[in-house]
Formats: sequence, C-alpha cells, structure tokens
Amino acid sequence: MRYAQPTRGRFAFRRESLPTAIDYFTAQGVKLQGAGAWRSALCPFHQDSKPSLRIKLETGSFRCMVCGAHGGDVLSFHMQNYGLSFIEAARALGAWEVAR
Ligand SMILES: [Zn+2]
Repeated sequence: MRYAQPTRGRFAFRRESLPTAIDYFTAQGVKLQGAGAWRSALCPFHQDSKPSLRIKLETGSFRCMVCGAHGGDVLSFHMQNYGLSFIEAARALGAWEVAR
C-alpha cells in the first residue's frame, strides 16, 4: 500500500481516486502553461495578471510565487479554492468512498 488511508467509520479517503493534476486543473478551467514537470497558471487566490502559480504535474502540489498560496495536492487546492473541509473536498473529487 503506497499511502496511509485514514478511515472513519464505514468511510475512507481514497487518495488513488483523486483526479490527476492535468485532469483536475483542466476541469477547473485553470490553464496550464509551459512544459515539463512544473507548469504555470494564473493564481486563483489573488488578482493575478501573469501566471504566478506553479503546479507540479506529478503530485498536483502548487505554490504561488506572489501570494504564497500552496498545498501538496489537488485536494488541498480544492479545499482552499472553495473553502471546503478535507472530507467535503474529498467527496467532491470522488475520493471519499464507502469502505468495502
Ligand atoms: Zn497567488
């Protein structure tokens, strides 16, 4: 097992069910620019006029060079962008499932 999976009751966080960074940010309308492991995008966490947000495709981790917004994966991005709790964001991204 690659990741620890915290469980609560009959439910469980399924990290492997999170969308890939490319799929997620594309679906969110975040236009990824550049090439390579790190891409640039307009930062949604401040009024951005040029792409200040850096996104690592492999993990979905992100960091804004201007406002300092950062996180380790698309789940963290979703929580911060929509003001959601961990569970709400995991559920919204299809990564919170009934344990079997
Ligand atoms: Zn920013």
